[in-house]
Amino acid sequence: MTSGEKEKKRSRLAELLDRCSAPADPALTLPGPDGAVRCVSCANRCLIRPGKRGICRVRFNDEGVLRVPWGYVAGLQIDPIEKKPFYHAVPGGKALSFGMLGCNLHCAFCQNWFSSQTLRDEASSALPTECDAATMVREAVRHNVDAVISTYNEPLITADWAHAVFSEAKKQGLLCGFVSNGFATPEVLAYLRPVTDLFKVDLKCFDDKTYRTLGCRLAAVLESIQQLVDLGYWVEVVTLLIPGFNDDEAELRALARFLAGVSPHLPWHVTAFHPQYKMNNQCSTTPEDLRRAWQIGRDAGLHHVYAGNLPGRVGTLEDTTCPGCGNVVVERTGFTVRRNRIHNGACPDCGTVVAGYWTRQETAVRSLEMLRS
Ligand code: SF4
Repeated sequence: MTSGEKEKKRSRLAELLDRCSAPADPALTLPGPDGAVRCVSCANRCLIRPGKRGICRVRFNDEGVLRVPWGYVAGLQIDPIEKKPFYHAVPGGKALSFGMLGCNLHCAFCQNWFSSQTLRDEASSALPTECDAATMVREAVRHNVDAVISTYNEPLITADWAHAVFSEAKKQGLLCGFVSNGFATPEVLAYLRPVTDLFKVDLKCFDDKTYRTLGCRLAAVLESIQQLVDLGYWVEVVTLLIPGFNDDEAELRALARFLAGVSPHLPWHVTAFHPQYKMNNQCSTTPEDLRRAWQIGRDAGLHHVYAGNLPGRVGTLEDTTCPGCGNVVVERTGFTVRRNRIHNGACPDCGTVVAGYWTRQETAVRSLEMLRS
């Protein structure tokens, strides 16, 4: 494909996406000079002039009005909630997962580059499918899911649409959640909170220089994690462990100390990398690498550290243990929950409360207080 053809393909897709758009929610914009609008949906806080796009390329200024993605999905499927991964939210439950297109970052190791980098990388050919929020939620109910999750691409850049879908889902009593890079603003987190319960943050490393190569800032992500907990979201953090990229021992120890300082009850998932996208020559993460990171998390004082993406190869490190007596309370292999012994939000052996959203309603308030204490 010539560069001219690539450019044509990109602009055709941008036109198609621009048709699937609506004015931004006023809560996520600030007025700027001469028709410019500042978007506050992520920590880039782009000032967008008329006719221009934000860094994510999917939010754009049309004659002084910020227009944002609306009324479509690029991926829609029912997943085990453990796949997100949420391990402390309705274990064994089902989640209707939906994604749109685009991202505010450009990670060389992205697992979902096909949809996230669609406006940057001509190798991607993901396309939008029009839909409406009520229909999506009707399908969720028909399939008896427990949660509706915005995932696959970065949901912060499509927060207005997620808010619309979650507002419908809440009428049906479903849990709602984000799987996000956490490069958020206080404005977007406050906007989402009334309709959002769960928030998974990808903490990609603990080095600001490395973070900046992805188009992000470490401090902004750390602030978001603290704000999420303060606002009462149920938060789980994931770090994709990439040999030679973010697995330096001192860096991992600093990361784990930060999380334990937010709350020792905050679950931390260290997951295995498999070569892909622009990092297809990098080594895979071994079970030994995951065990080492797991131990670092436990040494820092975190009660719940999980080794992921290598099902059945990390012994008991996929299980949830009671922070009181140490007995296994949820047994897992990969995304399968083999046994859930949590009773009324607590360990059946010693009665210690285990932080989590163990059913759609039960103990949520108590658990959130544990994260915040
Ligand atoms: S979502 Fe982020 S990257 Fe996109 S326009 Fe808004 S501030 Fe910029």
